[in-house]
Amino acid sequence: MNIKITKAETLKAKPADEENLGFGKYYTDHMFMMDWSVDEGWHNAQIIPYGPIPMDPASMVLHYAQETFEGLKAYRNGDDILIFRPEMNALRMQKSNERLCMAEVPEEIFVEAVEELVRYEKDWIPTSEGTSLYIRPFCFATEAAVGVHPATSYKFMVILSPVGQYYPEGVNPVKIFVEDEYVRAVVGGTGFAKCGGNYAASIIGQVKAQDAGYTQVLWLDGVHRKYVEEVGTMNVMFVVDGEILTPPLEGSVLPGITRDSCIRILRDWGYTVKETHIDINDLMEWTKTGKLQEAFGTGTAAVISPIGELNYKGNEQIINNFKTGPITHKLYETLTGIQWGNLEDPYGWVR
Ligand code: PMP
Repeated sequence: MNIKITKAETLKAKPADEENLGFGKYYTDHMFMMDWSVDEGWHNAQIIPYGPIPMDPASMVLHYAQETFEGLKAYRNGDDILIFRPEMNALRMQKSNERLCMAEVPEEIFVEAVEELVRYEKDWIPTSEGTSLYIRPFCFATEAAVGVHPATSYKFMVILSPVGQYYPEGVNPVKIFVEDEYVRAVVGGTGFAKCGGNYAASIIGQVKAQDAGYTQVLWLDGVHRKYVEEVGTMNVMFVVDGEILTPPLEGSVLPGITRDSCIRILRDWGYTVKETHIDINDLMEWTKTGKLQEAFGTGTAAVISPIGELNYKGNEQIINNFKTGPITHKLYETLTGIQWGNLEDPYGWVR
């Protein structure tokens, strides 16, 4: 693909203190942008200075939320820039766009846009432990039309943000509030798609959990209102009697790339991983009896996040004495080791 590059006239100062990057606070000097129209398909690929983009107030994304996004990270190890399984993000965005009747971004365009922008901005990749360059590709409807239909024009963009730990807690257990009023997604809806609307609908649960003193929310299914689905914006796994249980991908759960990687690694270690419905009532009971040994979330932002406490309808249960369990810890070390290029990558995941 031919990418036209316009260099920023002045470059921003890079954040001096890598220990306090936070998450999503800083953006690099440039961004990638490309257009889609019915007549021309994908065209006009550009790397341009980071900044506001002019939009028609009738742009369909602002009214009907045809918007999808992705999240992945780049790491720097010596002279190498490493990216973890970007083709999986490309495929997931295609499935998201298909569900939202949006123009699909071909895998080659997605991966090349990500790689070229990251290479161009490589000096922005932080190097301290626990830091990375967060990559946010996204796609949205630009047709100016008030009236619900699949838009006839889209933009695909990529922006980059140097980040530290997602949770200030780091890789320490977090307190989780089980949400029994609101649901995130239902089978037949858009739960498996990474579209902005899902997140808009979920913010209320997060606010409720945080108001109650919890870090995140555990979502239950929308039909039976008792099967565990996801934790915040992560997939969730439980170690029960030495086996690993995780909710199946039936349409309401986002197919996480970290989830997929963890299942692969755990099975290679000899663990039984069951993709199965998990009843919250059983989970609370197993927590009481100690049958539930470990619980953790999996996702790009925090990689692995141990769960130390569950609150369901006012019943509070502590998991593993609020400590990070051995499987949780080993998974974190292994996955981040592969991602940062410090461990051998037997799967060929790192580019
Ligand atoms: N579930 C939701 C709702 C998410 O937003 C994410 C983050 N993309 C995940 C799960 C984890 O997916 P991944 O491992 O690909 O980051």
